[in-house]
Amino acid sequence: MRIDIFTLTKDCKSDACRVSYGGSATTLMGFTQEYDKKGNPLHRDPNITTSNFGCSTCGRQWKVKSRDGEPDQIETVLEPSDAA
Ligand SMILES: [Zn+2]
Repeated sequence: MRIDIFTLTKDCKSDACRVSYGGSATTLMGFTQEYDKKGNPLHRDPNITTSNFGCSTCGRQWKVKSRDGEPDQIETVLEPSDAA
């Protein structure tokens, strides 16, 4: 999956923030892709992969849901205050 980490860390206040990948899970819906004559896929994969990311510096956590290998929805799971 392609994910631009910067779209996650835009809320991180510290320059020292480091993000790590915490694994992913994919739904297991049966799906057979079909292509047209030119090789273009005709369907979107119904399966959704949820990947977890965390910032080890400020403690932020994100879930990224993706379909067809592209990030679809980014959710901040844990939003600590950056007051400290
Ligand atoms: Zn951070």
